[in-house]
Amino acid sequence: MDLELKNVSKRYSNDKLALDDFTVGFNAGIYGILGPNGAGKSTLINLITDNISRTSGEILYDGEDILKLASAFRAKIGYMPQQQGFYDDMSAYAFMMYMAQLKGLSKKQAKVQSRELLETVSLSPVAHNKIKSFSGGMKQRVLLAQALLGNPEILILDEPTSGLDPKERINIRNYIAQISKDKIILLATHVVSDIECIADRVLLIKSGKLIQYKTPADLTNSIKDKVFERVCEKDEIEKLQEKFAVNNVVYKNGRLTFRTVGDNLPPRFEYAKDVNLEDVYLYCFNYK
Ligand code: ADP
Repeated sequence: MDLELKNVSKRYSNDKLALDDFTVGFNAGIYGILGPNGAGKSTLINLITDNISRTSGEILYDGEDILKLASAFRAKIGYMPQQQGFYDDMSAYAFMMYMAQLKGLSKKQAKVQSRELLETVSLSPVAHNKIKSFSGGMKQRVLLAQALLGNPEILILDEPTSGLDPKERINIRNYIAQISKDKIILLATHVVSDIECIADRVLLIKSGKLIQYKTPADLTNSIKDKVFERVCEKDEIEKLQEKFAVNNVVYKNGRLTFRTVGDNLPPRFEYAKDVNLEDVYLYCFNYK
């Protein structure tokens, strides 16, 4: 199971270069695709799912171009789209059966898998209720379940937690971690906490370019001398924010703490000892 992009570029008809000479390889594991809006995450996903055509480069699955593999490749993909507002009048089970049919599963397989997957995402008790009666988190879980029909080798999740409250967010993350065995899971998001605990590797994308491709631990290590902090008083924050545009004010050990990122330790600050992926995001996308 080996998915490889080699020197892939995508230029839209308005001349916008959305992906620029992108080279990356994936095998079984969870990959977080992180970047601000407009970075090129959706373009990358749409190229891998063969929804849009590439301008140049190769996308290979086990050494064969996915364009040549065509439907044989598409059958290996499970896709959880971003949008909701889908088939609201169907029950979760009916929707699963419908999607299973579209994926070409036999009626027997469709029934077994629909039941099992709704169980996996803890929706069995409401399987026959209409989707429109569901909370945002439950709707996302239905979308996740349908992506798993046919046991795809590659699972693509586009902003799987968008619009969810923290508890639902954690639920979705746990389900993703639970189903991740023996699959390539690509998880595109601009929410750092979505991938902090579950991603094996993180791709940082900026203006269509892959700027980092590392484990979360290696990423945080790479900026361990770039994150600074100092305890501050409430009335100092405004002044500090004027001076350090990229910042994060947090409560630490009961004290207000002002954090910033950069290349040089500012006076009266010390190196933060608990560098996290959020700091990496701030350093790579807001500072650099
Ligand atoms: P992301 O998913 O990271 O927000 P996108 O892949 O949607 O980024 O977009 C990357 C860039 O390509 C953006 O500048 C966006 O405006 C542009 N873009 C996306 N889709 C199209 C399109 N169909 N036509 C022209 N430009 C597009």
